[in-house]
Amino acid sequence: MVQTLALSVGLIVLVLGVIALLAHYTFWLPWKPRHWPRVLMYHDVGAGAQDGMNIHPLHLADQLAVLQHKQYRFVTISGLVQGLHDNSDHVVALTFDDGFAGLYQHVLPLLKHYDAFATIYLAPRIAGITMLDNTQILAMQNTGLVEFGAHTMDHVNLLNIGDEEAIAQIRNSKDAVEQMTNAQCRSFAYPFGRYASRHVKMVREAGFESAVTTKKRIVATPNLYEIPRLSMNGAANALQFHIQFGTGKYRV
Ligand SMILES: [Zn+2]
Repeated sequence: MVQTLALSVGLIVLVLGVIALLAHYTFWLPWKPRHWPRVLMYHDVGAGAQDGMNIHPLHLADQLAVLQHKQYRFVTISGLVQGLHDNSDHVVALTFDDGFAGLYQHVLPLLKHYDAFATIYLAPRIAGITMLDNTQILAMQNTGLVEFGAHTMDHVNLLNIGDEEAIAQIRNSKDAVEQMTNAQCRSFAYPFGRYASRHVKMVREAGFESAVTTKKRIVATPNLYEIPRLSMNGAANALQFHIQFGTGKYRV
């Protein structure tokens, strides 16, 4: 009787263990073809807590080294959009939302080292974070390695404001980014990944050529105004990164 009980408990523990393993390492999901573009979404880069908003610079460096080793070519979002139908190439677009000041210190040297391109989405009046200053933005722009996109003026949830205000938030952020960078602002990121079809139209009519979302998928040919991205988590280990990059899915 005691033996049967011990066996049952052991079996339950084993089953739970397998379920946990399958949830955290989603290698069993279909692997997407290598020539389908990968778009990675990061936020801050620094030594703080490693989570969905922050990744350690050494950890990011490891990921870039892996991608370089896999012979992926780093592109900006505009570069990705231009080359979308070129299946001969394997491309990955690194994107960083909100324009955290840490990107100047930690990301720019990595881009130079790996000869990599990145896209940074700025919300010029964002509150609660230390954003890149104008000198840093211009210096990054002038390297030719960084494309700056817009992310509304105040980092607003477009679903929570009226249409007129949404249009102003979208258009004014494009103008502000163009003034800060002395360059055309071609791409937009929906704050919090929240938007409706009317906002897609507003973004297109404002003159953006593309927009990125937080839909966590890898697709062959993304809709230019609803480009999905993989949300990168600083706490993901190398195996989880490998699986996420291949399948689009993971859980830390
Ligand atoms: Zn954001």
